[in-house]
Amino acid sequence: MATEAELKAASEKYIPKDYDPALYKLRHSLAHVLAQAVVEKFPQAKPTIGPPNEYGFYYDFDLDVNPTEGELEWIANRMKQIIKGKHAFKVREISADEGRALFKDNPYKLELIDGLTKGQDEYGNASAAAPVLTVYQQDTFVDLCRGPHVEATNDLDPKGFKIQQVTGSYWRGDSKNKSLKRFHATAWASGDDLKAHLARLEEAAKRDHRKVGRELELFANEPVFGSGFPMLLPKGATIRRLLETFITDYERRAGYLHVFTPDIAKKELYKISGHWDHYKDSMFPPMDMGEGGNDDEELCLRPMCCPHHIQVYKSKARSYRDLPIRIAELGNMYRFERSGVVGGLSRVRCMTLNDAHLFVRPDQVKHEIAGVLQLMKRAYADLGITEYRFRLSKNADPDGPPSDKYVDNPAMWESSTKMLREVLQESGMPFFEAWNEAAFYGPKIDVQVKDVMGREETLSTIQADQHLPAKFELEYKDSDDTPKRPVMIHRGVISTMERMMSYLIELYAGAFPVWLSPVQVAIVPIADRHFEFAQKLGNELLDKDYRVDVDLRERRMQAKIAEAEAQKVPYILVVGDKDVEAGAVSVRLRGKVDLGQKPVAEFVAMLEAVVKSRTLK
Ligand code: ATP
Ligand code: ZN
Ligand code: ZN
Repeated sequence: MATEAELKAASEKYIPKDYDPALYKLRHSLAHVLAQAVVEKFPQAKPTIGPPNEYGFYYDFDLDVNPTEGELEWIANRMKQIIKGKHAFKVREISADEGRALFKDNPYKLELIDGLTKGQDEYGNASAAAPVLTVYQQDTFVDLCRGPHVEATNDLDPKGFKIQQVTGSYWRGDSKNKSLKRFHATAWASGDDLKAHLARLEEAAKRDHRKVGRELELFANEPVFGSGFPMLLPKGATIRRLLETFITDYERRAGYLHVFTPDIAKKELYKISGHWDHYKDSMFPPMDMGEGGNDDEELCLRPMCCPHHIQVYKSKARSYRDLPIRIAELGNMYRFERSGVVGGLSRVRCMTLNDAHLFVRPDQVKHEIAGVLQLMKRAYADLGITEYRFRLSKNADPDGPPSDKYVDNPAMWESSTKMLREVLQESGMPFFEAWNEAAFYGPKIDVQVKDVMGREETLSTIQADQHLPAKFELEYKDSDDTPKRPVMIHRGVISTMERMMSYLIELYAGAFPVWLSPVQVAIVPIADRHFEFAQKLGNELLDKDYRVDVDLRERRMQAKIAEAEAQKVPYILVVGDKDVEAGAVSVRLRGKVDLGQKPVAEFVAMLEAVVKSRTLK
């Protein structure tokens, strides 16, 4: 039998690679402390499993009552007491029989023990780990657990955790099984860390793009469309149009050619491209056009535009002098994202990507990728996105389990990855590398931004691909008249319109820079006699292509101003007797800032400058 020190050292391997080990141990330990308190409060409760999660941990119990607020408070206080009791977390190895005796009243632990002896982990999945059974004990509470834990409860801060709620769950996550009660808690190294987390949560809730999107009438989810198919309401549609014009203008100036290609194609196309082999799970099932129609083939909604842009390349013969050819499209694509992960605008099932494919000679690859990075940096600066980092996304980890997600061509992976790494190194921009994040046909440079909660997501992506050009036998005639194969660079600069909008809504909490605001100016006449002036001014601004809302409703001025403020309209122009007389407006900036009276011409000049500079105000 292994010693306590050996068992503890061996348990460290269960800490996930990207998890802070100290936090992992602390959360795991608190889960046991919670279980002790729960069982003391409800002796009939049967603990099942209680792993750490993103910001804390949960613990599932078979429990026949719904704990009241008071009972939860009792549990939290009891946890604090246990922590202050300075109990060591003692580990010892047990045999399966010993375990069965120890947990004879808990069918869940018995099932876990059976699974473990058969080489399954606690979720019932096959596991490579040797079936060593261990129990950890603090104070009076013993739990079947593989660890790892902190040394003793002294290492926990009694102010560092919070029980957030109790929800329903199922044993093994299967709704056919017995329903359980899941206690959720967030847990941190100190009370200050907990406070900071709770403040971030509050801020994130305020900025949540689903909430802001509803309040500002940007988009809505209509149940009859289905989940993952949001609709953009007029104001959201305005923002999307602005983004589209913004990015396509940049691309045009950078030598991109814009095309329109169909959203649907024969399944055959995706068989050639390899999507059918490697990406089918993310595609909607094909439509069988069957007997009725002329076509007896199957049609697919495209999950990517690459095979389509390849057809554009192939539409005529290309010579080395034509390259690079940069084909761009605001491409609609359809992905069968699982219902558990779709939500709001950030992950949808029907999306429009700011897509482009660059067909280049091998000697042009680096220069073209550098150009894309340049374009990306400029676009980000204009959008006000300042915090991001680069990730070199590679195929399956050679030390991990084998994967059929990627095309099998080690030489190609090696040379493409090396190429991207060199571009990043030469650009001088810091980056990190990650396994298992590549596209199926090649490695990527992903640009990672953080949301309010510090979670990272990908906005831009650049990929070097030698696979699809080979699959589709792409060629150009080289200077020596021989046919050569171009390299394909896939890139999305401002991501999908959906994901970018969700990001910007949260970045600005709905108070968009003036150039992106769906309504830039609200005009509020004080009384009926100012309506004419207000309307004339509104038309004048509209003629100059500004987005104006003239509020002619029979309502009090204060109410109209408050509503424009709530809608985050950057400029509110109040029009009264003195303004009409002077041909001026009283300007208020969103956020209740009074800019005083300005002649109309002066206001227009200011507006023009602000829009042009793409600033906030
Ligand atoms: P992810 O890892 O986010 O699923 P991916 O690696 O499959 O994305 P790509 O095929 O590279 O994504 O797509 C380009 C970009 O489109 C992504 O970087 C992301 O910003 C965006 N995107 C991908 N899937 C969705 C989706 N379901 N909804 C909205 N935007 C998406
Ligand atoms: Zn444990
Ligand atoms: Zn592509």
